[in-house]
Amino acid sequence: MNEEKFIKLKENFKLRNIEVQYFETLENVKSYILNIIPMECTIGIGHSATLQKVDITSSLLERGNIVYDKELAKNKEECKILKKKALTTDWYITGSNAISVDGRIVNVDHTGNRVAAIIFGPDKVIIVVGKNKIEDTVDEAIKRVKNIACPLNAKRAGFNPPCVTLNKCVDCVSKERVCNSLSIIEGQSDSDRIKLFIVNEECGF
Ligand code: SF4
Repeated sequence: MNEEKFIKLKENFKLRNIEVQYFETLENVKSYILNIIPMECTIGIGHSATLQKVDITSSLLERGNIVYDKELAKNKEECKILKKKALTTDWYITGSNAISVDGRIVNVDHTGNRVAAIIFGPDKVIIVVGKNKIEDTVDEAIKRVKNIACPLNAKRAGFNPPCVTLNKCVDCVSKERVCNSLSIIEGQSDSDRIKLFIVNEECGF
């Protein structure tokens, strides 16, 4: 990632009270996360292809943390319970659909569990983002989320809104719509809550 761009991004997030840290690889991020989260803490996981790539859930479970990750659910009901439990854990770890150099974090959600957790859930939130998800402005970040992240995430989850076929958003009202909630984090009051970890790798979509 371009160093000048990263410095600008870090400064802009700092102005909005959000700490940004840079990592060369996803494995580096994983080691760092395992190091800073105490073993007695509970952890909620927001669905993220980035985190799944390094299987952070298994590593946390293996060493004894209690982890609420909807991917562990055996059925719909269990999935809902895990999503709710993840809202009140000590830590929440997730990815993001896009961030902008001007200092915003942009996400869409189907049911809203992930954006709810990020906005006002666990006391500590870690958001891991690959370099492919960085846009210059908040408008470009929203464009990315709707036209790139949504179709790919919808397809992965087995939904079929128009963007899956068209590869672009047509602002649908389909029952298969996956972007029911759009959240833009513009800043935070507690500088120690949300931390943004940027990885110099292409991660997720
Ligand atoms: S509004 Fe519809 S078409 Fe647009 S990104 Fe969301 S699901 Fe896709």
